[in-house]
Amino acid sequence: EKFNIAIDGPAGAGKSTIARLVAGALGFVYVDTGAMYRAVTWKILREGLQAEQISDMIALTGRMDIRLVPGSDGQMVFVDGEDVTGMIRLAEVTGNVSRIASIAEIRSILTAKQQEMARSKGIVMDGRDIGSHVLPDAEVKVFLTASVSVRAQRRFKEICDSQPDITLERLERDIAERDRMDEQREASPLVKAPDAVLLDTTDMTIPQVVDRILELCRL
Ligand code: C5P
Repeated sequence: EKFNIAIDGPAGAGKSTIARLVAGALGFVYVDTGAMYRAVTWKILREGLQAEQISDMIALTGRMDIRLVPGSDGQMVFVDGEDVTGMIRLAEVTGNVSRIASIAEIRSILTAKQQEMARSKGIVMDGRDIGSHVLPDAEVKVFLTASVSVRAQRRFKEICDSQPDITLERLERDIAERDRMDEQREASPLVKAPDAVLLDTTDMTIPQVVDRILELCRL
């Protein structure tokens, strides 16, 4: 039987790693909604739009063709046919994405796309507002969290090769700031859905977290 799984939580909680593994174990499709907000942010920066050009940003988002394609080393992301998989992880995108993601109209455009992707079921979707807003009827909902210092350490390991001048302190500050913006925005903020299962992964290994979620799927 196919069903949907919503995985939410703050930056660096391990959502994408866990969601990918859970999807693999079940033969489901993984959808990384953070990559969609990053893709929109990348395009807005590339077009040179200024912070006050909100209506241009919304129009641009409405015209964008965003495609998530499962690839051999993870999901690939295309914007209007261009491969942006690497570029959406750049520090400039990360530093601007929460500001762009706070624009309500941009959220509704992406939310509609995400709901369309989940219509056929068999989806593991990760993000900030999936269980609370995008897929309120998802059969399984998980809210992943971990201490800020553990989350910063995990991110550090992920990106220290590609961004050698990054420091742990800087990452910790950036993560805390992004969490604050995601939690405090008016439109579908980062929040645990009341019926989501809270998993604090600070002292858990990746296989432990995956097994716990697969257990929830059996109930
Ligand atoms: O998951 P990731 O760190 O790639 O997400 C990047 C940013 O996109 C988040 O910090 C948040 O501002 C935004 N986002 C969101 N809603 C989602 C997924 C991501 O606002 N469902």
